[in-house]
Amino acid sequence: MTIAFQRCINPACAAEFDLLRVLSKCPKCGNLLDADYDWGKMRLPDRIGRLGRVDEWPAGGLAAVSGVWRFGALLPFAPAGRRVSIGEGHTQLRVSPRAAAFAGIKSENFRLQYEGLNPSGSFKDNGMAGAFTHASLAGAKIAACASTGNTSASLAAFAAASGLMRAIIFIGDGKIAYGKLSQALDYGAVTLLVKGDFDDAMARVQEVCAGEGIYLVNSVNPFRLEGQKTTMYRILEGLDWRIPDWVVCPGGNLGNSSAFGKALYELYDHGLIPKLPRLAVVNSSGAPTLSRLVNRFGLKWNGGRVDDDAIAAYYSELDARGEKARTLASAIEINRPVNLKKCLRALERTNGVVVEASDQEILDAKAWIARDGLGCEPASAASLAGARILVERGIMDRDSLVVAVLTGHQLKDPHATVAYHSYPEDKLRSDFGGFGVTASPFANRPIPVANSLGEIIDVIRRTAREG
Ligand SMILES: *Cc1c(COP(=O)(O)O)cnc(C)c1O
Ligand SMILES: [Zn+2]
Repeated sequence: MTIAFQRCINPACAAEFDLLRVLSKCPKCGNLLDADYDWGKMRLPDRIGRLGRVDEWPAGGLAAVSGVWRFGALLPFAPAGRRVSIGEGHTQLRVSPRAAAFAGIKSENFRLQYEGLNPSGSFKDNGMAGAFTHASLAGAKIAACASTGNTSASLAAFAAASGLMRAIIFIGDGKIAYGKLSQALDYGAVTLLVKGDFDDAMARVQEVCAGEGIYLVNSVNPFRLEGQKTTMYRILEGLDWRIPDWVVCPGGNLGNSSAFGKALYELYDHGLIPKLPRLAVVNSSGAPTLSRLVNRFGLKWNGGRVDDDAIAAYYSELDARGEKARTLASAIEINRPVNLKKCLRALERTNGVVVEASDQEILDAKAWIARDGLGCEPASAASLAGARILVERGIMDRDSLVVAVLTGHQLKDPHATVAYHSYPEDKLRSDFGGFGVTASPFANRPIPVANSLGEIIDVIRRTAREG
């Protein structure tokens, strides 16, 4: 496998490193690394419609049915027999008329890409297939991550299912939804509850991994992002290779948006798609680093000459104000996104945009997604909330072909859902007012009834009349 290598994203450095070196940043200039390939030596599909089918199937195991590794021709860093899988990537691209109506987009032109169907319940499994495989190729015995919950659930599942490595996870104490914590504990990962938030846990895990030779699977890992490219391939496949006008996703650590951008411009640069969709990345207004830097301070990739001073100034201002990320969309409660520069690159290449949605807008959007029979966690609904805002502002056309990515499953965080639908307004205000959530206009309220046949029948008839 000599066609795969790693390369610094900073064009002024562009240092290249061996595929199997374990690095979380460029040793020369400190920037992020990409996985890249000698594209001239790759066996690309002769036409785009066959993209998903060109790869030879490995002999057996879950990798043979992986929705990541079937696109192995476009992430060729692991020989077929060494690909690790938990059967990830069996997702759906769904027509979603109610969600479309909420966003104000023509329903035949709108799709939700449901990544909550992954084995551990979030898109993180796509990336973990890549990172875990690279860890195993590199001979790692222990893998670690900091997590708001889903990365740790995925790592713990891969470690348990493969038996190849021990998993150690770093969680900001009190900053994790129970569904996600339950997974890490149940799968047997060493689970450290670090006093602090995600950004603190992220800083500590990077120090620990550098010092102790532990393999880091956070999305600074370029092979995570290789696996996460496959969401885009599955979307294109689901659209029968029509190119959407827009792809919308939530922005937390910005790994997904970076991976989506890379997937798309690689296809475009190598002649496999005729045009690029525009990427829309949605921050929660409680964790708005990307949106503030891009929309307020005009931060750009700028051909790789990113204004590092502007980023440093923004972070020191956050520190001076003691400002921490704070949103009910816990998967995107991140103020120091590690993939910031890669995301800026993706935005530049795709003529992308960034918007902020409030937690109220996110929970309202989530209720509309569920009306189409799709359950997602709050962070995922930022996609639809963002699409609605972009339509309102006239940036997204109601006739556009739009795909919004649902990143994680509803049952990850049932607390927010139950609260939205069942809390009386005063309790909602007192529990969630601090997040800006004060009402639940689209609630489906549970109905208390006496243990009485007559009353139950009356209530059922009344709900039938109310339709
Ligand atoms: C991780 C995660 C996100 C954020 O994705 P990034 O790649 O970190 O921007 C959004 N939603 C869910 C459900 C997640 O698990
Ligand atoms: Zn470099």
